[in-house]
Amino acid sequence: MRILYVEDEKFLAEAVIHLLKKDKISVDHVLDGEEGLELALKPNYDVVVLDIMLPHLSGLEILKIMRERGVKTPVIMLSALNEVEDKIKGLDYGADDYLAKPFKTAELIARLRALCRRPAIASDTIIEYGDIKFNLNNRTINEIELTDKESEILEMLIKKPGAVVPKEQILAHVWGADSEFEDNYVEVYISYLRKKLKNLNSRVEIKTIRNLGYKLIYV
Ligand code: CA
Repeated sequence: MRILYVEDEKFLAEAVIHLLKKDKISVDHVLDGEEGLELALKPNYDVVVLDIMLPHLSGLEILKIMRERGVKTPVIMLSALNEVEDKIKGLDYGADDYLAKPFKTAELIARLRALCRRPAIASDTIIEYGDIKFNLNNRTINEIELTDKESEILEMLIKKPGAVVPKEQILAHVWGADSEFEDNYVEVYISYLRKKLKNLNSRVEIKTIRNLGYKLIYV
């Protein structure tokens, strides 16, 4: 994991960086808001950690410009305790998390790891397979709308085209691990998806592999 850390309190930053590095997190650190912005706009980082009070440009301003320019790198804002207004502003501007100072570095590391696990914010994410374009963002295939469940199932299949996706896996993923739903729910939604593919005259088909699951193929 590689992060950008913008913090003007030199000694605090050094202490934090020491622990981050021990945890195998690589850190680019700058003390100044302007420099921070310049680096934050680059697509080099898994997470950007921004202090709010900085020389030249505040953390909030950096965040605002990042989001205006379409940079979607997750951001954690740091700020002194009780600055509730800053927190609200930060979240409004598109911060992903917020940590009040003073904080434990272990807490920061936990938040960093959580953000890295979270998939990047989908923006017009389109997966193409065969003759279909699946837009994960607005849940459509070739402009035809899918329901949430149809879309979740198709996403599982289309990410591993040609591979068998077990029915239990679909059930657990879409309906929850201790789901009380029957596995014929999966069959029902697969049939809805097939109908939509057919309406599109698509050559993409969902094949049933008996006693195993389903796979997506292009014929
Ligand atoms: Ca500061």
